[in-house]
Amino acid sequence: MNFKKTKRYLFIAVLFLSIFVITSCKPRVYKKAGLLKSIPLHIIIVSRSEPKWDTIFKYVDSQTSLLDHRNILSPLNKLNSTGRAVMPDEIIRIIREALKIAGESGGAFDPTIFPLTKLWDFDHGGKLPEKKGIERAKKLVNYKLLKISDNNTVVLPKGMGLDLGGIAKGAIVDGIADYLNKLGYSQFLIEAGGDILMQGLKLNAKWKIGIKHPRKDNEYVTVVSLGRKDKDKNSAAEARASRISIVTSGDYERYFEKDGVRYNHIINPATGYPAHGAVSVTVISDSCIRADALSTAAFVLGYKKGLEFLKKQAGTSGLIIREENGKLQAEEINNFPAVLDELDL
Ligand code: ADP
Ligand code: MG
Repeated sequence: MNFKKTKRYLFIAVLFLSIFVITSCKPRVYKKAGLLKSIPLHIIIVSRSEPKWDTIFKYVDSQTSLLDHRNILSPLNKLNSTGRAVMPDEIIRIIREALKIAGESGGAFDPTIFPLTKLWDFDHGGKLPEKKGIERAKKLVNYKLLKISDNNTVVLPKGMGLDLGGIAKGAIVDGIADYLNKLGYSQFLIEAGGDILMQGLKLNAKWKIGIKHPRKDNEYVTVVSLGRKDKDKNSAAEARASRISIVTSGDYERYFEKDGVRYNHIINPATGYPAHGAVSVTVISDSCIRADALSTAAFVLGYKKGLEFLKKQAGTSGLIIREENGKLQAEEINNFPAVLDELDL
């Protein structure tokens, strides 16, 4: 073999190798399913290599355990059994956000709903409590009686308790997004049982999000395209600004039926019974914690009051569906990205 020929072979080999390296480093879409306790969790990341899933899911587990009042090691559990507990900063932040939305919704959203949720027991499928029990528990729900002292001690009067179920999932999803940013990922989607956060785009396209049909399994009332491109990938503020969250609260995921009546897991603190003014509330907002709490709040407020409430929330749009005489009817607020006439109701 002469020298010229060897050089040519070498050149071709280097060329192929560079093409391989370049194409294998192109960003791709990676997906992984897991669990947030018993809730299905899906994470999609645009990355140049397989994401560090083990590290990510370990973080998810630690956050979930911390915010679950059923976990006996959680400070929320301690608060509910003793009436007093010192909380880490991250829980205090979530409680403050919950109290803010409780105030804005006139108590329709109330994180001290625990005595009632315990009674209805949706953790074990749900059961219809006696009227007397509901009246007693109702008196023990009042977010205004929760006190937070300077050293992060949270105090509640005897018999009261905290249930962050209406806001915790959103808070955890926001936390996962922050954690993914820390690991260097800037384009991703996180979905935990109906709570969705997107940052950036899916490669170069918007993300497609289906809004579940409240009465037909595996069908959607519409599919919306969402996504915001970040202008500067290295700026943390810009990364946050390119986030969009969409959350749905519905009466079709956790409920039981008795004597032809549907009882769902979102309770109206004013009556002590499940809220029934809407069947599905979808909220789009800049953070998942806000979208989560606002969708639960609007669900309790019902169709008309829920729409009025969402209208006042800056940077937030919503879609509410109600059921009247077996027929579904929808209304949107603040330019929700769906055409009402084209919904598959
Ligand atoms: P999901 O968690 O099923 O997606 P939501 O975000 O709407 O639905 O939250 C429902 C949960 O919120 C309930 O399981 C309970 O833990 C809690 N909750 C129920 N009623 C209220 C209420 N009026 N205010 C605040 N939280 C509530
Ligand atoms: Mg919620």
